[in-house]
Amino acid sequence: MSIRPVCAGNPMAKLIPIPVRRAAQASSRVEALVRDMRARSLRSAPDGTIDTRGRPLRDLRISVTDRCNFRCVYCMPKDVFGRDYPFLPHDELLTFEEIARLARLFKAQGVVKVRLTGGEPLLRKNIERLIEMLAAISGLDLTLTTNGALLARKAQSLKDAGLERVTVSLDALDDSVFRTMNDVDFPVERVLEGIDAAAAAGLAPIKLNAVIKRSTNEREILPLARHFRGSGHILRFIEYMDVGHTNGWRMDEVVPAAEVLKTIDAEFPIEPIDPNYPGEVADRDCTRARLSTDGKVYTCLFGTEGFDLKTPLRAGASDDALGDAIAAIWRQRADRYSELRTAATGALPKVEMSYIGG
Ligand code: SAM
Ligand code: SF4
Repeated sequence: MSIRPVCAGNPMAKLIPIPVRRAAQASSRVEALVRDMRARSLRSAPDGTIDTRGRPLRDLRISVTDRCNFRCVYCMPKDVFGRDYPFLPHDELLTFEEIARLARLFKAQGVVKVRLTGGEPLLRKNIERLIEMLAAISGLDLTLTTNGALLARKAQSLKDAGLERVTVSLDALDDSVFRTMNDVDFPVERVLEGIDAAAAAGLAPIKLNAVIKRSTNEREILPLARHFRGSGHILRFIEYMDVGHTNGWRMDEVVPAAEVLKTIDAEFPIEPIDPNYPGEVADRDCTRARLSTDGKVYTCLFGTEGFDLKTPLRAGASDDALGDAIAAIWRQRADRYSELRTAATGALPKVEMSYIGG
C-alpha cells in the first residue's frame, strides 16, 4: 500500500499579513518586476529560475475552467456558487493557444511538470486538444486532477491525446457520505468506474486525493485505506485548508495530518517514504506556480493577488518579454504562507481554489 498523507501546511503557526492590491495593478507590477530584474541583470539559473528562498520553479498548475459540476462543501459551497454566481465569461478564459504558449515559456524557466486542474478540467470543451498541444512540448510531464465524474467516458481519449497520469479526488467510499461531500447527489460508484477506466487506459500510477473534514468524512479514512491497499494507486489524505473565503473554514473542522496518520497506523503500520522530488509533498519546499483560468500567475495557494499575464499576452508581448515576466514573478517570490498561517487567516481576502486551481 502506498499511502501518502499530504500536509498542506501548519495551521498552528503564525499569521503573516498579505498586501491586497487591485487586479488592475497586476500588469504594471509585472512590468516593474521585469524592469527591476533587468536592472540587476539577473538571469535564470541553468537548471531553473530560483526564488528568494532558493526554491526552483518546477511545477505549473493550470486552471482551465472556474466551473464545476460538483459543489464540494469545502470548495464551492452551493449557497455561494449558485445559479447567479459570476463565473468568468468565455473571452476571459485563456485560449488553448495562449495556454500552450505560456506553458512553453514556463518550461524555459525550469518547469518540468504541468498539471491541468480547475474547477473541473474535464468540463472544458475539447480539453483533449489542449492536452495534445501540451504533450507536443517535449520534456513536460503532463497530468490532470479531476473529480472523476466524466472520467469513465473520457479516460481513453485523454490517454490518446497524450495525458500521462491522473489524480482523482475521492473523499469517501460510503455513497451517502460521498453525496454529502459533493453536494450534487453524485454517486461514488461512477467515480470508482472512472478510476478503473483510467487504470485500464494506462493513466497510471493513479493518485487519489481525499480531503478530510471533521464530523463529515473522518470515518472514511480507514475504509479508503483498506479499499486501495494493494491497488497500486497512491492514496493521499489532505487537510481541509482555509483557501478562498467562501467555505466557512474553521480550525475545529480540520483533521490534522498527525491524526490521520495515527488512525491509519493503528491498523496498517506506516513507514515514511521520501517524496519523488522536492516540492512533491510538502509546501515548505513548494516549487509550484499556478496559472488561473484568466491568465494570472499565483506563486502561493494562499496568495491574494495574481500577476496578470493575459494583458501583455493579448497586447502582443514577445516571448522574450513574457519569459522575463515569468522569471521576474518567480524570482521575487518570498511567500511561505502555508507555514505561517493561523486560524486568523480565515479573515484575510483569498482566492478561491476552484479559480486558482487546486
Ligand atoms: N475539480 C477537480 C478535483 O476536485 O479534483 C480539480 C480541482 S480541485 C480544486 C483540486 C483539489 O483541491 C481537489 O483534490 C480538492 O479536494 C482540493 N480542495 C479543494 N478545496 C479544498 C480545501 N478547502 N482544502 C483542501 N483541499 C481542497
Ligand atoms: Fe469541484 Fe474539485 Fe472544488 Fe469539488 S474540489 S467543487 S470537484 S473544483
